[in-house]
Amino acid sequence: MSKALKDLKGIGEKTEQTLNKIGIYSSEDLINYFPRDYHFYGDALPLNALKEGIYCSFSGVVQAKPSVKKYGQRTTIVTLKIIQGGQAIELIWFNSPYIAATVRVGSVYVFHGIPKRKGSTLTMEHPEVFTPIDYEEKKKTLKPIYSLTKGISNNVLLKHIKTALEEEELKQDFLPYYIKEHYKLADFNFAYKTIHFPKSKEDLIIARRRLVFDEFMLFILAISKLKEETAREKNNFPMKPVWDTYNLIESLPFELTKAQKNVWAVIENELNKSGVMSRLIQGDVGSGKTIIAFLALIQCAKNNYQGVLLAPTEVLAIQHYKDLLEALEKAKIDINVRLLTGSTKAKERREIISGLETGEIDILVGTHAVLNEKLQYKNLGLLVTDEQHRFGVKQRSELISRGKTPHVLVMSATPIPRTLGLILYGDLDVSVINELPANRLPRKNCVITKEKRPVAYKFINDEVKKGHQVYIICPMIEASDGIDGENVIEYGQTIKEIFPNYTVEILHGKMKNKEKNEIMERFANNEINILVSTTVVEVGVNVPNATVMMVENAERFGLASLHQLRGRVGRGDDQAYCIFVQGNGEEQILKRLEVLHKTNDGFEVAQKDLELRGPGDLFGIKQSGDLAFNIGDIYQDESILVEAKEAVESILALDVNLETEENILLGRKLNDYIKGEDRGFNL
Ligand code: ADP
Ligand code: MG
Repeated sequence: MSKALKDLKGIGEKTEQTLNKIGIYSSEDLINYFPRDYHFYGDALPLNALKEGIYCSFSGVVQAKPSVKKYGQRTTIVTLKIIQGGQAIELIWFNSPYIAATVRVGSVYVFHGIPKRKGSTLTMEHPEVFTPIDYEEKKKTLKPIYSLTKGISNNVLLKHIKTALEEEELKQDFLPYYIKEHYKLADFNFAYKTIHFPKSKEDLIIARRRLVFDEFMLFILAISKLKEETAREKNNFPMKPVWDTYNLIESLPFELTKAQKNVWAVIENELNKSGVMSRLIQGDVGSGKTIIAFLALIQCAKNNYQGVLLAPTEVLAIQHYKDLLEALEKAKIDINVRLLTGSTKAKERREIISGLETGEIDILVGTHAVLNEKLQYKNLGLLVTDEQHRFGVKQRSELISRGKTPHVLVMSATPIPRTLGLILYGDLDVSVINELPANRLPRKNCVITKEKRPVAYKFINDEVKKGHQVYIICPMIEASDGIDGENVIEYGQTIKEIFPNYTVEILHGKMKNKEKNEIMERFANNEINILVSTTVVEVGVNVPNATVMMVENAERFGLASLHQLRGRVGRGDDQAYCIFVQGNGEEQILKRLEVLHKTNDGFEVAQKDLELRGPGDLFGIKQSGDLAFNIGDIYQDESILVEAKEAVESILALDVNLETEENILLGRKLNDYIKGEDRGFNL
């Protein structure tokens, strides 16, 4: 049974709040908070062979007692200098006075951590300390690395996960035995334990395979169910073509591309056919999907049904809302559109609730708040989701169980090869926008090392002088122990100092929504020249005046993610540039980035990404986008995806409702999955 965090040993109120910040609310959440990476304890190196910026171990003799200094009530700093063959390193521990007592002068220890250069001194913060014998044992294990937030360290989080695992009872496996046997899958109790505490790399691979299989299988089961349910549905909301959509197209400052016209023709027609529509529009970033969504919503409203446009972030919801209002006004179309997000004030929220019930509101744009159970739509005829396929699956199952199935239009820019698409979008008919607007110049890309930053800054300076805007992306929000990489808060400060005459702002997921929205709005209005941000801007944001995208620690992002980021520029008539800065110079990374360098085609990027990742690269890179799973990776785990699909087919062929004894637990698991909150959270 899942427990509340406060019922777990060692978790007080403060820790609870910290854990909430990373989406952990129960013991089950803790167990499901998988490592984002693992690392190995390698051989201890001599001091002069240490590499800066990555985890290393070295052994050395402690020549003198560590120094312990107190600063005020709260802070103690322990430092220890080790000198070896003319090379020195300073080891530093904050608030860990006990360290001083664990090392003895004259003995040899192995220290493990990330060497960093501060000025001319080589330093290592919070190294782990081992005796040589203990270290030999340690070398056999892997250390899980979690995504953290301020106030919790990797070791403390690991300790809480251990507690949660220990208090959890063993569960009966929900996978039918014949599936487990056929696909040689590990027991799931073993899998959970091992993913956090792997005894060896082999065990880890086996455990991960099981968890990835589960995740894919449940997803595929959910969409199979959905497909079956929608396939039976007739069109409850027939929508005739209307003149207003023609007026809107006429009023646009550009002509629709051939691909846009084709896709729209299919949808316009389909909304009026005998069956309900479930369609995916797939089109690369910047191909112009939004306008198609607007057209469908107008046709819906003018047939006197209600329509919903669901966006993954508040920033994007607000942008869609404004763009839609503007487009309607230009084309002189009278439709009542409202915006609903987590930040909507109570009074306005009440108005919206009643407006939806009476049918006074035609179109609602918003974040997942728009699908709240408390909202009673008078006649919801069309649901459009933008960059939210996975989210859409759960919500749609819910909607179907609530009433008449509306038409569904899903928009996605996630580039995937066709074979994967057939599995992941198995419930949808697919339309592809395979063409970019004609006036677009191809983006220019380059990959640089950190040393070349000054050149990049000069380039940025020139672009801003021309009136253009710039995004700079960092992988982290704030500095974090043990993880190397640029963070928005410090980097933002640096950029402000480099460009004192420009307006520089920062944006990240931990800011209040209101603040985030304000910043984004000012950026959209060209009141901010340079925006230093996390990947919150990754999906959908459209500021055509931005021409430079600079990505720090580009090696930390999946290629699909980088491609999405790149898609934020080159959305207008001006030449756009992408600068990928690599944080550490391993060759493999360079190869991956070169793929982006060479091609602007999202599908090709995906294919190459798949080829480049060897089977050894298990956890290296977190994918994002609307098909990001908790642990599985659609590119890297393609073979598991195919197996999961096959397994679903064989299970459903014999027992479509999952009612027989061997499938009953699976059936329950599926219901939980469909009802359950999405565990993923946005940066
Ligand atoms: P995405 O497919 O990534 O969601 P958007 O729909 O946001 O792309 O469109 C990107 C930009 O291109 C917007 O500024 C939009 O107004 C513009 N746009 C859309 N269609 C065309 C077109 N046919 N010609 C020129 N610009 C277009
Ligand atoms: Mg979009």
